[in-house]
Amino acid sequence: MIKIENVRKSFGELEVLKGINLDVEQGEVLSIIGGSGSGKSTLLYCINAIENIQGGKIFVDGIDVHNKATNKDQLRQKLGMVFQQWNSFPHLTVLENVALAPQIVKKMSKEEAIEIAQKELKHVGLGDKFDMYPTKMSGGQQQRLAIARALAMRPDYMLFDEVTSALDPELVGEVLDTLRILREEGMTMICVTHEIAFAREVSDQVAFFHKGVIEEMGPPEQVISNPQKETTQAFLSKVL
Ligand code: ADP
Ligand code: MG
Repeated sequence: MIKIENVRKSFGELEVLKGINLDVEQGEVLSIIGGSGSGKSTLLYCINAIENIQGGKIFVDGIDVHNKATNKDQLRQKLGMVFQQWNSFPHLTVLENVALAPQIVKKMSKEEAIEIAQKELKHVGLGDKFDMYPTKMSGGQQQRLAIARALAMRPDYMLFDEVTSALDPELVGEVLDTLRILREEGMTMICVTHEIAFAREVSDQVAFFHKGVIEEMGPPEQVISNPQKETTQAFLSKVL
């Protein structure tokens, strides 16, 4: 599981995370919602040690992420991350894009990596696009490629940072469908998202971030359908 205890994070004078507490159990989906600049992306970067923290602790499967002795590369193999926009390697085919990291990072043989890449591309509905070049793909296909690339590393957790925010509206659904499949399969996920209806549908927990604190957290029936705090109500009235 992922355990976040009183995490504080600053950029210089600016305190961006002001004591975040969160637990994500195996197989759970946590959605993080909240306004721009509230610290959502920063928290994801702290979880996989792209950013350091100034206080508190983060544990992934009991491993203290920010302990100096922790092997960060090993830790990151547990955590797949997909961003709003992902730049694939334009000179490699879709299949080569997905098969690359398993060979380099996991030292897999080319055959083994290709096999996994094919499987994961089918998984995200790109089974007929192996030989295409990413630049020829739609935004929705590119995001599914990004998801396949993360899955090919066989992570235990997936972190999604607004993976549909840059997409044309008609392409959002196919990416959300892919996330639904992962959820059904029991993948543990943290999704930063502006898709409130999606968050309501798939989440076990929803955390509403506001200025670096969790203002409200709980099941979606509570946080989204029956928010208690004025800040949550104001945010939802803008985005729903
Ligand atoms: P969100 O994802 O909720 O929109 P972020 O986590 O990206 O918010 O950012 C939270 C705050 O931290 C913002 O005020 C942002 O400008 C600031 N910030 C993010 N990354 C950096 C950085 N590398 N250096 C300085 N400030 C940053
Ligand atoms: Mg962000």
